[in-house]
Amino acid sequence: MSLPIDMDAVVIGGGIVGASAALFLAKSGQRVALLERDFFGAHSSGVNYGGVRRQGRPLSQLPLSQRAHAIWGDLTNLIGIDGEYLRSGHLKLARSDKDMAALAAYEQASRGFGLDLQLLDRDQLRARFPWAGDVAVGASLCADDGHANPRIVSPAFAHAARRAGADIYEQTEVSEVSHDGHAFTVRTASGQTFRAPWLLNCAGAWAAALAEQFGEPVPMRSGHPAMLVTEPLPMFMDVSTGVEGGGIYARQVARGNCVLGGGQGFALDPATARPGQAAILDILRNAVELYPPLAGAQAIRTWSGTEGYLPDREPVLGASSTQAGLLHGFGFAGSGFQIGPAAGEALAQIVCTGTPSIRLDAFSIQRFQPVSQPTLPTAPPATAAPAHAENVIPLFRGRSQP
Ligand SMILES: Cc1cc2nc3c(=O)[nH]c(=O)nc-3n(C[C@H](O)[C@H](O)[C@H](O)COP(=O)(O)OP(=O)(O)OC[C@H]3O[C@@H](n4cnc5c(N)ncnc54)[C@H](O)[C@@H]3O)c2cc1C
Repeated sequence: MSLPIDMDAVVIGGGIVGASAALFLAKSGQRVALLERDFFGAHSSGVNYGGVRRQGRPLSQLPLSQRAHAIWGDLTNLIGIDGEYLRSGHLKLARSDKDMAALAAYEQASRGFGLDLQLLDRDQLRARFPWAGDVAVGASLCADDGHANPRIVSPAFAHAARRAGADIYEQTEVSEVSHDGHAFTVRTASGQTFRAPWLLNCAGAWAAALAEQFGEPVPMRSGHPAMLVTEPLPMFMDVSTGVEGGGIYARQVARGNCVLGGGQGFALDPATARPGQAAILDILRNAVELYPPLAGAQAIRTWSGTEGYLPDREPVLGASSTQAGLLHGFGFAGSGFQIGPAAGEALAQIVCTGTPSIRLDAFSIQRFQPVSQPTLPTAPPATAAPAHAENVIPLFRGRSQP
C-alpha cells in the first residue's frame, strides 16, 4: 500500500460529469484526482446517442441545461476538440394531434428559458424537412440544439482536466472509502490511497453504493437504451430528431451514417449491456415510417450502455445530507450528456465557493430520505478532528449492483 496522496478533491467516475467536475476544479487551481474504474467515457458518456438537446427536458432542468448550452458553445476552447458538435437543431416530431398539443403546451411552459421553440404544422414541416414521413403531423424545432460524438467528447473532458493540472487515472477502481471526521481516505483496487476533504460521487449507474454507505439510500435502477448505426447513406437530414411520447430518435452524421435509438436493451452484468433483438427490430420498424429515406438501410452496428434512473427521472446533484464534503452527481436518466458539463461545473463551484451559481434544490438527495435530516454544512471542517474520531465507512465496491 502506497503513502496517501493528498488532494483537495477526489472525483470517482470518469464519465462526462466527473471529468467536467475535475476540469473545472483544476481550472480553479484545486488539486484534484479523477479516478475511473475502466476508461474515460467507457460507459454512458461515451456510448450514448449524442443528442445535445434542451428541448423536452423537465422545466426544473432548464436553467442548468441552458448553462450547459453555453458551455457546449465554447467546447473547442474548453476541451481542445470540436467533438463533431453541431448546432443542427433538434426536431421533435408529432404523430397525432394529441402529440402536437403536447408540443404546443411545452412550448408555452418553457417560454422564458431561452429555447426559442418553433411549432411547425404539417405543411411547414414538409416545406423545411421534406424527408419527414406521412405519419408526422407536425413538429417542434429547437434551432440551437444539436448533436455531437460522445466517443470523442467525453474522454476529451478528462484529458482537458489533465492539461489543466488534474491527476487523472484510468483502470483505477475505488474499492474503499472512509472518513475520519476531517478528510476522506479513498483506496483503489490497484493499491493507491488518496486523502481529500472533498469527495465527488460521479460513479454513474454505480453511484448508489457509495450514497448508501453514507446513509443515503436511493432507489436507482439501471437502464439500457438500445442504439444502432446504419451504413453511410446519401445526406437527407441535418437535424437531430426525436418523437413526442418517445420511442425513437435519429440523427445523421457528416459521413452519412444514421444513428438511431429507442426502447431498452438488457444487462449482461452490472457493467455490460446489450441492445437486444426486440428493441433493434422495433427501431427499424418505426424508423421507416418517420424517416422514409431509411428504407432498406443496413444496420452495421448495435450497442447499448448502462445508465442510472431515479423514479422521478431527475438526477441527484449537490451536497450529501449526511456527510460534509461529500457531493453527489449521478442518475441523469438517459439525458446527462448535454447537461453533464454544467453538472460538473456546479459541483466544482460548491467545492470552490460553497454555492453553485444555479440552484440545485430539485436534485437534492434528501428527496429520497424517509425522515428529514438536519442540514449539515456542505463544506468539510476546517480543523483536524481528534485522532479518535475515525469513522470508517464500509467498503465501497465499485461493481456492486446498482
Ligand atoms: C445508450 C445511451 C444513450 C443516451 N443518449 C443520450 C443523449 O442522446 N443525450 C444525452 O444528453 N444523454 C444521453 N444518455 C445519457 C448520458 O449518456 C448519461 O446521462 C451521462 O453520460 C451520464 O454521465 P456520468 O458521468 O454520470 O456517468 P458515466 O458515463 O456512466 O460515468 C460514470 C463512471 O464511473 C465509473 N465508476 C463506477 N464505479 C467506479 C468506482 N468504484 N471507481 C472508479 N470509477 C467508477 C464508471 O466506470 C463510469 O465510467 C444516453 C445514455 C445511454 C446509455
